[in-house]
Amino acid sequence: MGERRFDLIGIDGDDTLWHNERDYVEARERFGRMIALSGVAAGPDELTEAINRTELQNIRYYGYGVSSFVLSLIETAIRLTDGRIGGRDIAELLEVAKSMLTSEVELFEGAREALEALSGTYPLALITKGDLLHQRSKLERSGLARHFRHVEVVSHKTPDVYREILSRLGVEPSRFLMVGNSPRSDILPVLALGGSAVHVPAALSWAHEEEELPSGLGSRCVVLRSLLDLADTISEWSA
Ligand SMILES: [Mg+2]
Repeated sequence: MGERRFDLIGIDGDDTLWHNERDYVEARERFGRMIALSGVAAGPDELTEAINRTELQNIRYYGYGVSSFVLSLIETAIRLTDGRIGGRDIAELLEVAKSMLTSEVELFEGAREALEALSGTYPLALITKGDLLHQRSKLERSGLARHFRHVEVVSHKTPDVYREILSRLGVEPSRFLMVGNSPRSDILPVLALGGSAVHVPAALSWAHEEEELPSGLGSRCVVLRSLLDLADTISEWSA
């Protein structure tokens, strides 16, 4: 391996290292059955659209994560049923949230191997968005915690947030690489600062996180199909 090209590698958690969105997909389906039983006629797309709209409006109040999601489900249910949603249904939504918060952490193929290979050479930072307690508990249960020198659970992933983390850790943006599934959260803000990025698209991602990556990003952005290739890609980058 040649000279080290990066002083810090940041890695996203949800839908990059471990599955996440599929729990949300399942929760939206349960929500859809509940709404149908309450006599409201709405198709799956319409329901997803209604939930997403509420969630986006609520980010400024509750941030990202399961707690925010369930409050948005309850609010959407109240609106769609014109206030007729019952206490039992709300209790069921709260149970859905608790099962999401405690569901098994399942890693993507190659996640463990990639971190094992990289953590010998690079300081790694988990940079993840969501509920503090939930994100920390997922990291503990993932068995990956020992590979990370830093853990940053943030409310938003904007250029300013990345800049603050890098300045606190004493890392030049040009010496920082971020790995993640979300163009909006993991890739574009880091490229905007002058850093580099590896985009690993997930089969399932929240619609809000999807955004077209512009073409012509050049040598600072690589797209990988799987984490299995991550360590080799980074070491070739460094050579
Ligand atoms: Mg993610």
